[in-house]
Amino acid sequence: MKITPFKSQPVKPVLLWVILLVMPVRSVTAPNARRAASPAQLSENSQVRAALDWFSRNFTWINDEQARLTEIPAPPFQEAQRAAAVKSLLAAAGLKVQTDETGNVIAEIRGANDKEAVLLSAHLDTVFPPGTDVKVRREDGRMSAPGISDNGTGLIALVALARAIHEARIEPQRTILFVADVGEEGEGNLRGMRAMVDTYKARLRAIIVLDGSATDHVTTKALASRRLEAVITGPGGHSWSDFGMANPINALVRASVRFINTKVPTTPRTTFNLGQIEGGTSVNSIPFEAKLKVDIRSESEDELARLESALRECVAAGVRDEMESSRDRSKGKLESKVNLLGTRPGGELSPDSPLLAAVRAADDYVANQSRAERSSTDANIPLSQGIDAISIGAGGNGGGAHSLQEWYEPAGREMGLKRALLTLLGVSGVVQEKSK
Ligand SMILES: [Zn+2]
Repeated sequence: MKITPFKSQPVKPVLLWVILLVMPVRSVTAPNARRAASPAQLSENSQVRAALDWFSRNFTWINDEQARLTEIPAPPFQEAQRAAAVKSLLAAAGLKVQTDETGNVIAEIRGANDKEAVLLSAHLDTVFPPGTDVKVRREDGRMSAPGISDNGTGLIALVALARAIHEARIEPQRTILFVADVGEEGEGNLRGMRAMVDTYKARLRAIIVLDGSATDHVTTKALASRRLEAVITGPGGHSWSDFGMANPINALVRASVRFINTKVPTTPRTTFNLGQIEGGTSVNSIPFEAKLKVDIRSESEDELARLESALRECVAAGVRDEMESSRDRSKGKLESKVNLLGTRPGGELSPDSPLLAAVRAADDYVANQSRAERSSTDANIPLSQGIDAISIGAGGNGGGAHSLQEWYEPAGREMGLKRALLTLLGVSGVVQEKSK
């Protein structure tokens, strides 16, 4: 989860109610291109009510399984063990489940109209490297561990929603795909979601991403970002006897100072971060390599392109400055390159999207307030391709995401789970229950 706060216009509840009130009441709460099934319609269905009640009945199970999944390490590109655990949970509940080539776990509840699908996802991976202590400490209703909320909360919510819908024997109108996906964080570069959208694109009508716990915002706008790595290399040598040779770390520092003086606009909001720097082998050696990783983000693709060019120019200039000031150029020169490690495309959900109407109606039903935000999430991929998508938190309270002090408090999480369920069923639609 990468949140960049973005103030947006508040929702207009009056408008929403008008939309909902003009929707015809039908026995089959089937969505079409323009409308979502309302929570009021949905909750007339006793199976939907049973699914809504499932969360409080299984509150302890949800907490315990969240802790168990969190204690299975899932560093970037090493999600397989946690994926297997999620797969077992879904299979044990009786769902049809498979793992794709990318490593995504996919369970399915087939709808009356299998030509159309909605997708609910939660990412498996964490930002924490192998060896991180992920033991969950539980104290006074709080669970603490790296990854407990991001995305322990989303993952267990995915499983809970799948179980609630399956065990209540709800038949959705559109097929629902429940996906625990790989590669959301960092250099994972959203590869799990990219694969899902590639495979299912023709059938996908909406994607709901569960990420973290916060229910005070809905990510409806995808923040475009790029991750770059500058690499500067040279011959290297001895700190004393080779003094005066061009030094890759010096060049990288010169480049960095130039780059951090680049002006970026506040509107459209544009940011950069020098996030990781490495190089050298010992204090008394002229290094043969220096590397810098940079994250750049913007509400504007143009600004993003401008900033990437600026970084490339600064690296070239840093190398040039270092070469010009070196006393001894006989032993070789510096080389540099800038690699694109990842790119996340931007996009926005249309204000008249049925998915947005569904989450707003769900908010009203559970008495939650949320604002629209821009952020970088799995929803970037569908939004950039014109597929309706949002990213939401799954309830409860959490903090310290991406830090070793991460924590989560499950009290009140049922609201977030009900909200997610009603949003999902709002866009999938529900087939009328059989009369008994
Ligand atoms: Zn996350």
